Amino acid sequence: MMPSLDDAPPPGKEFLDRLRAIVGPKGIVDSTSEAAKFERDERGLFNGKAAIILRPSSTEEVAAILKACNDAAVAVIPQGGNTGLVGGSTPTPAGNEIVLSLSRMNRIRGLDAANDTISVDAGCILAEIQKAAAAVDRQFALSLAAEGTCQIGGNLSTNAGGINVLRFGMAREQVLGLEVVLADGRILSTMNALRKDNTGYDLKQIFIGAEGTLGVITGAVLKLQPAPRETSTCLVAVSSPAAAIELLGRAKTGSGGNCVAFELTHRRLLDFVFAHIPETADPLGRPYEWYVLAEFAAGDMGGALMAMVEGLLERAFEDGLALDATIAASEAQRRALWRLRESMTEAQKPEGGSIKHDIAVPVSAVPEFLEKARVACEALVPGCRVCAFGHAGDGNIHFNVSQPVGADRAGFLARWHDMNHAVHEIVASMGGSISAEHGIGRLKRDELPFYKDAVAIDLMRAMKRAFDPNGILNPGRVIPDPAN
Ligand SMILES: Cc1cc2nc3c(=O)[nH]c(=O)nc-3n(C[C@H](O)[C@H](O)[C@H](O)COP(=O)(O)OP(=O)(O)OC[C@H]3O[C@@H](n4cnc5c(N)ncnc54)[C@H](O)[C@@H]3O)c2cc1C
Repeated sequence: MMPSLDDAPPPGKEFLDRLRAIVGPKGIVDSTSEAAKFERDERGLFNGKAAIILRPSSTEEVAAILKACNDAAVAVIPQGGNTGLVGGSTPTPAGNEIVLSLSRMNRIRGLDAANDTISVDAGCILAEIQKAAAAVDRQFALSLAAEGTCQIGGNLSTNAGGINVLRFGMAREQVLGLEVVLADGRILSTMNALRKDNTGYDLKQIFIGAEGTLGVITGAVLKLQPAPRETSTCLVAVSSPAAAIELLGRAKTGSGGNCVAFELTHRRLLDFVFAHIPETADPLGRPYEWYVLAEFAAGDMGGALMAMVEGLLERAFEDGLALDATIAASEAQRRALWRLRESMTEAQKPEGGSIKHDIAVPVSAVPEFLEKARVACEALVPGCRVCAFGHAGDGNIHFNVSQPVGADRAGFLARWHDMNHAVHEIVASMGGSISAEHGIGRLKRDELPFYKDAVAIDLMRAMKRAFDPNGILNPGRVIPDPAN
């Protein structure tokens, strides 16, 4: 059984002074106003109090902090951009956890264009890595709406997904090498830039998606892709989710695998965006119920990519899959289309309480899931407003449910567990996942035993004991309590 640090007393002044000495004055967040952004999660669901917030500047400092905390059995919460949506990166209110922010470790360590690799500190902001790649005519393929704030260490720890999974896979598929500080302070370096390395276990993969429970990622070697020469982006009103999935199949085949993003959304999300996000407008003449935002990207095809997309849409109109469409004619129009998609999370906030589900089902099952889950939620809370959108190209739907208009926010949010249960049972019956890309954190930890294989959970506990015998890394996150 893992030792539990839940009820541990806050660490004493002498111990905190030792940590202060490791990072120096620049590595400590002292003011209460500054601290708030490290102690509160993105959605405001998790508010806590850190014993101290440390911002080390090097892997060696991280190692010294972990060694000290391991020796004293003090909990450490690694934190990246703090954009995670499952309460994994913020402390509990007990005041007994150290927040370890990687934000000062933000150097691009090196870029090898001929090898298509970039080597980075874990605290690099995702958008900065994309920019560095673009500067040498390459692309770093991970992309998500939080990319201006989230850090690559957080992306790898959550195995982030985003809009390009369809073409390039999840975060773990973008990694060649990793540097990790273990709970006892040892530094594991697998920072190689090789596409072939079969020298035993692929240890880096164990830390990717572990949500900081097995080690602190301090550096990574990432794969780069050729920068696209031609891009075509379209917003298509489709006749139904089933029509969207039929269109997806045609888009993948017709483009020879060059469909890089395929996002589905219900009209309600667009209505919220037009109502709450400045300078947005409906690019189509009239409203429809379902839309697809699709993007295609390829090398130099002499303009053939656009012709392929036009042909695809023409046939989709003829066959009744598409009802209306617009293709971006400029980079500004392309950005405007993506802005609609990227604003959807923000646009739900002014509409009151929202109960979230980040689920995945097989792509072919998306239409059936959408219908069954809508019926279940509306039966549970009449008048609730289902806001379904997301990465339909890989089967991941953000099935968010906004409160009925004028309802009591707290009363609606009190149904969180019931609604999650109803939706997750449908997901499970379809062989799906209750966490497609956001992870488990604290939010879904107690649900995990109901939806994950018992042997898999046993192995997760065994790995946790092996990597972090004192249980100092992100205690109470991800790994279910043995009592459950
Ligand atoms: C508007 C919006 C859109 C989003 N869209 C997507 C999306 O499309 N796809 C998607 O997958 N996610 C999405 N997210 C969720 C979030 O952005 C991702 O989970 C992201 O990968 C988290 O990165 P971060 O740096 O903010 O990590 P944090 O939130 O700081 O941390 C996340 C977890 O990783 C751990 N961690 C952080 N850094 C390290 C490290 N260096 N070493 C070890 N553990 C660490 C933390 O302890 C925590 O458990 C979105 C969030 C927002 C707010």
